[in-house]
Amino acid sequence: MKRLKILLYICITLIFAAGCSKSTLSFTDGEIEIINKYPQQKMRVLLYNDKSDSLILRQQTKEFSSADLQSDIFKNLKTQMLLTVQDTANAGVGIAAPQVGISRRLIAVQRFDKPDEPFEFYANVYIVYCSDDKRTGSEGCLSIPGRRGNVERSETVIVKYIDTETLKPQTDTVSGFTAVIFQHEVDHLDGILYIDKLQPDA
Ligand code: ZN
Repeated sequence: MKRLKILLYICITLIFAAGCSKSTLSFTDGEIEIINKYPQQKMRVLLYNDKSDSLILRQQTKEFSSADLQSDIFKNLKTQMLLTVQDTANAGVGIAAPQVGISRRLIAVQRFDKPDEPFEFYANVYIVYCSDDKRTGSEGCLSIPGRRGNVERSETVIVKYIDTETLKPQTDTVSGFTAVIFQHEVDHLDGILYIDKLQPDA
């Protein structure tokens, strides 16, 4: 009986340990090197017309593990992406991780639909609904400097993501210009640039 209890204890401990270690850090050495290269500073923005930059911009991105989302390296990436998109010399209204060389599903979007228009981060983000109601507007991109072009986007989208503060899955319904930013940034996570979707000038 005692032996059975010990066996049971070992089993429970093993199951618990397996549960805890389910999520491990998945950052590659290369990703950590890029993030550590710009400590608390703006990062280099990759350009669509540079051959090696373009390879990264055109890649399908990977999700973060829950251990990644709780790590300091992830916090540093967010801080540095924010400094990059708010750089007064080349400011934007949104940025996606591939634009700073990190091929992961993370975007920052300026929420023009919220008071004080804050930048917010969305990890492992997907668009799960696009309205048939469309709008055409002019877009630019930090990775395509000095150019703008007309793109047709849905008026309303529903996004599914992990909240980077609470680490809980969330959905959000977004409309108007902020929905355009979400569509532009999520496209980056699938290797798509706005110039792939240009509409003829009206
Ligand atoms: Zn862009």
